Amino acid sequence: YKGLRLVLGDQLNAKHSWFADDKAEYLYLIAELKQEADYTKHHIQKVCAFFKAMENFAVALDKAGFHVLHLTLDETQDYSDLPALIAHLCDKYQVSSFDYQRPDEYRLLKQMMELTLDQLQVRCFDTEHFLVPYEELDDYLTPGKHTTMEFFYRKLRRRFNVLMDDSEPLGKQWNFDSQNRNKLKQKDIDAIPQSLCFANDVSDILKRIKRHKVKTIGNSEESLRWPTTRAQAQDLLAFFCEHLLPSFGQFQDAMTCKSDDKWTLYHSRLSFALNAKMLHPKHVIDSAIAAYQDNSQIDIAQIEGFVRQILGWREYIRAVYWLNMPDYRHKNYLLAQRNLPSYFWHGKTKMRCLSEAINQSLDYAYAHHIQRLMVTGNFCLLTGIHPDQVDEWYLGIYIDAIEWVEMPNTRGMTQFADHGIVATKPYAASGNYMQKMSDYCQHCHYDVKQKSSDDACPLNSLYWHFMHRHEDKFANNHRIGMIYRNWQKQDEKTRQEVLTRAQWCLDNIEQL
Ligand code: FAD
Repeated sequence: YKGLRLVLGDQLNAKHSWFADDKAEYLYLIAELKQEADYTKHHIQKVCAFFKAMENFAVALDKAGFHVLHLTLDETQDYSDLPALIAHLCDKYQVSSFDYQRPDEYRLLKQMMELTLDQLQVRCFDTEHFLVPYEELDDYLTPGKHTTMEFFYRKLRRRFNVLMDDSEPLGKQWNFDSQNRNKLKQKDIDAIPQSLCFANDVSDILKRIKRHKVKTIGNSEESLRWPTTRAQAQDLLAFFCEHLLPSFGQFQDAMTCKSDDKWTLYHSRLSFALNAKMLHPKHVIDSAIAAYQDNSQIDIAQIEGFVRQILGWREYIRAVYWLNMPDYRHKNYLLAQRNLPSYFWHGKTKMRCLSEAINQSLDYAYAHHIQRLMVTGNFCLLTGIHPDQVDEWYLGIYIDAIEWVEMPNTRGMTQFADHGIVATKPYAASGNYMQKMSDYCQHCHYDVKQKSSDDACPLNSLYWHFMHRHEDKFANNHRIGMIYRNWQKQDEKTRQEVLTRAQWCLDNIEQL
């Protein structure tokens, strides 16, 4: 072979221009690695999903006539890390070049950039995955500074001519968020279609994970429901466009107690396929817009809500990551120091909202955006959990968690640890929010209407404790000044009782 080419587990992009090159010239390396399985404690389904998708990608490339070296943990275990494996293979196959696609994670990029391969030409290629090329990210955002996602998103709508009517946004509005905050009523819950799940056999992978003592979290299943081929990912996209998109926007913030066949509500579950690059974001956007144009039941608020997530949030979060790393990972503006309670790892808590979000995450390696942001994220924010521990949990538990997308969402959006690079105010909420957006409170041990009694919803007092202890940081923030005025209006005795209850919750956090 002329060269060795590395395909990482999140680079399973069959449409990459590499695959238009001469098939005989390159050997494609797809390798399960202990360093990737171990850099954090992953959900077992996440490890299975990546390994299975890599295996399937290797088979597909092989069938298409490419030379592929697919190595399992059994075959890579003797190499200390990825560079050691690459050096060995370059030598073994006597290649004259080594190519890789730019990793999306800082950790891996650094490893690739520090690679020294004597006498070999080392080339870095774009992944050809995102809409905004890496080199252009700083045209949109400034490191260390807040840029509102909305403005970034509007620029991309114009640039890529997405949902535009000449120079105006389709529907004469950029944003239909106000129509996208409905709570699910029972009839809406009954109407949710059963999730489309696959049955990928991962029994061999589970054995390998065990044999190599990879430490994992969450519950495993021999039959993996996540898409692990491009064809399955396409099926999931088609299912979403037909059955879920008509109601996606209006219920995108809603939450309900988990049921076994409707646990993803109207969400697409496409994040794993997107992040592993089995699907291109533009393809997902174009497919959803085609469905909107064909189906009169899909109104503009639904399609705009979906496009905003992918064209807006996903591209924006990536820009925040790359323009702020490596400093970003050390940010802790609120000086949060507390340890993450143990129920994040086993799900046994009396708080119904937390128990629902955590148990669903342990069972399915999935929770939707509002569960991540307003349930687990909000709880960690209010109780002041150290952002390193919050990041570690999120990076491990979700099927779609890769640092570039996990960290700005967690450390930035939920924990305000970046001092407002992502969010203009902390996403802090009391029990009132849970009551408004979910049916969790009606099945809860605690009383959402109470603030300071022994059975009061812990979020109510923790919310005010959070506001009170960070008054110096937020009182002048015009978006939350009103909250402080409301707090001051309450009499001293009431405020003291609320703060005392919050302090009890903090001191006894393991018992909540
Ligand atoms: P849908 O609700 O159907 O949305 C469609 C797509 O939009 C998603 O697949 C995703 O690609 C994209 N998207 C939506 N919101 C965001 C966002 N805030 N950032 C980036 N992309 C977005 N997403 C990840 O892919 N990996 C993560 O590790 C991750 N960690 C998160 C941590 C926290 C604390 C929060 C608040 C959000 C996180 N998200 C992450 C974003 C979002 O929650 C998930 O993308 C989404 O829940 C995946 O489910 P879905 O495919 O059903 O999404």
